[in-house]
Amino acid sequence: MSENKIPYKIYLGEEDIPQKWYNLRADMKNKPAPLLNPGTCQPMTAEELGAVFCDELVQQELDDTTPYIEIPKEIRDFYKMYRPSPIVRAYCLEEALGTPAKIYYKFEGNNTSGSHKLNSAIAQAYYAKKQGLKGVTTETGAGQWGTALSMACAYLGLDCKVFMVKVSYEQKPFRREVMRTYGADVTPSPSMTTEIGKKILAEHPGTTGSLGCAISEAVEVAVSNPGYRYVLGSVLNQVLLHQSVIGLEAKAALDKYNVKPDIIIGCAGGGSNLGGLIAPFMGEKLRGENDYRIIAVEPASCPSFTRGKFAYDFCDTGMICPLAKMYTLGSGFIPSANHAGGLRFHGMSSTLSQLYHDGYMEAKAVEQTDVFAAAEQFARVEGILPAPESSHAIRVAIDEALKCKETGEEKTILFGLTGTGYFDMVAYQKYNDGEMTDYIPTDEDLAKGLSSLPVVPGQD
Ligand SMILES: *Cc1c(COP(=O)(O)O)cnc(C)c1O
Repeated sequence: MSENKIPYKIYLGEEDIPQKWYNLRADMKNKPAPLLNPGTCQPMTAEELGAVFCDELVQQELDDTTPYIEIPKEIRDFYKMYRPSPIVRAYCLEEALGTPAKIYYKFEGNNTSGSHKLNSAIAQAYYAKKQGLKGVTTETGAGQWGTALSMACAYLGLDCKVFMVKVSYEQKPFRREVMRTYGADVTPSPSMTTEIGKKILAEHPGTTGSLGCAISEAVEVAVSNPGYRYVLGSVLNQVLLHQSVIGLEAKAALDKYNVKPDIIIGCAGGGSNLGGLIAPFMGEKLRGENDYRIIAVEPASCPSFTRGKFAYDFCDTGMICPLAKMYTLGSGFIPSANHAGGLRFHGMSSTLSQLYHDGYMEAKAVEQTDVFAAAEQFARVEGILPAPESSHAIRVAIDEALKCKETGEEKTILFGLTGTGYFDMVAYQKYNDGEMTDYIPTDEDLAKGLSSLPVVPGQD
């Protein structure tokens, strides 16, 4: 197919919404390490996990062998409201950069919640409903996950309790109100409504909270209220599974035009969008069928992959959740106060951590002023106002395209544009006013976080 036939936007039809999720773990020789019970340091059983998570999601979490898992019709029907999402050929950006590289992005911001998180929110809410539960609890940082979950719960008639990191609760009142509009109950975290919240507030009076803290509170409420379970918007295997719709659609759209990406780039917070985008491509790489260069992009102020340790750690500050083996900065790590670009979680998906450890992907850390510069350059030519998180991927896509300009190579770049940034205008304002600064944690800063890693027998 000749180059000039590729449209600006490649839309698939409704019938092209994947019928099945792809479980990347099935093709991994070295499986991601199991979640451990923090008390016994033994792998968590389905029964133990079932006290916290919905039953069917526990099965998905533990399933390292089934390559394809049927997407229930009810979930596919919901996906029809905003999927398939478009693949865009960034002709305008290519021209502005003067690069011979061909740049494509998969845009996940075309729904009211404004990000890819709805892909897993509807799946998790569906399984909670199917189990006959009353509701779910969760945490949210910047607010995208809480918004997505609120939408999914409203659609299915489930109660939704969200613990929102206090600093975001105060700085992002509009996010909060969107969640309440969809019927969610939103509490700033840490709060006095949970035992763990009271303890954290006693130890750190005036703290503005962290994701790890909010997770602890949400889990406590789930396990102490009959009919409730806890749901998580990233990091877990099940979330990567649900997000595989991103990669499956992207691959189908590119295959339609015989386009094979050389480089695939995604931002990495807990790893769910990246894990979903790369899934079918990484599957081919693992099976030895094709090769791709895959790059995870993270903030220099929260550098889990590039400066963290591959070790078992808690996913939450309260240290009540299972231990996950992952690249981590320590569950006590909190990015510096001036950090505005999201992707603040201290750890990383176990699946991506194992793949990174085994050399199947690379990681880059970028500074936030460079990220916002890329965001603005992109917005002005491509029209979409990107989320700061997504803009990490834009930064590295632009950098790679500029390298092609120097070398004359016509590489094909695919990146994940995970969402829109309408609720991030305080951060954009800082950047526009020239008040945004970068902070790269020192080795001492990082050593402090890593000193809280749990001691797990058999781990160094
Ligand atoms: C939550 C979020 C991310 C990061 O989460 P991952 O689990 O790493 O994908 C990236 N972009 C947007 C827009 C988000 O809302």
